[in-house]
Amino acid sequence: MGTVVDAAIKVANGSAHTNKKVTVVFVLGGPGSGKGTQCSNIVEHFGYTHLSAGDLLRAEIKSGSENGTMIQNMIKEGKIVPSEVTIKLLQRAIQENGNDKFLIDGFPRNEENRAAFESVTGIEPEFVLFFDCPEEEMEKRLLSRNQGREDDNIETIRKRFKVYMESSLPVIDYYKAKGKVRKIDAARPIEEVFKAVKAVFTPESEKVAA
Ligand code: UDP
Ligand code: MG
Repeated sequence: MGTVVDAAIKVANGSAHTNKKVTVVFVLGGPGSGKGTQCSNIVEHFGYTHLSAGDLLRAEIKSGSENGTMIQNMIKEGKIVPSEVTIKLLQRAIQENGNDKFLIDGFPRNEENRAAFESVTGIEPEFVLFFDCPEEEMEKRLLSRNQGREDDNIETIRKRFKVYMESSLPVIDYYKAKGKVRKIDAARPIEEVFKAVKAVFTPESEKVAA
C-alpha cells in the first residue's frame, strides 16, 4: 500500500458541518466474486470498518423507510439504486462510525455513482481492490449460497451480470487508468484469495521474504 491520502468528508446535515479525515478502499468485483467474505477477513486483520452498500440498502428496506419499496424493486431487477440514496447511507455510516478507515464494498457501481460520491463527499479512494472472477464461477456461488436474498435467483443473477459488465467494469477501468486498481484472482478458495489480499494491505516495509 502506498502513502495514506487523507480525504475530508463533507457533511451537510443542517448546520453541523463536521469534517472527518478518512481513508477509503473501494472493494469491487462481480456479484458472487467474494467481496463480502474477504472484507470480513480484512476487518479482522487490518482494522477497517466494512460498509457494504448492498447491506445498507437492504437495511433501509427493512427499516420501513419511504424509499424502501423503490429500493426493493431496483434490487429485484438488479438495477442500480439512485446515487443520492446510496451515498446518503454511506455518508451517514462513515460519519457515525468512530473509525477512520473504511472498506466500501459493492460501490461505486457505475460512472455516475463514482462521480457523485467524489463530489458530494470529497473522498477519493486510497486504492480499489478488484476481485476478478469468471462469470460461471460467480453464478455457481450465488446459486448455492442460500442467504435468503431475493436477487439470488437465476433470472435476477443474469440481469446483475449484465449491469456489472455494462456499468461497473467501466468504473474499474477508470481507476485502472489512474494506477489505483489492485487486482486479485478471486476464482480460488477463500484462504488462497485472502493471501493475495493480505499482500495488498501489508506495507512493503513489513513484508518478509516467503
Ligand atoms: N445496489 C445498488 N447500489 C449499490 C450497491 C448495491 O443499487 O451501490 C443494489 C443493486 O441492485 C445490486 C444489489 O443492490 O444488484 C445487491 O448488491 P450487493 O453488493 O449486495 O451484491 P452483489 O451483487 O455484489 O453480490
Ligand atoms: Mg456482497
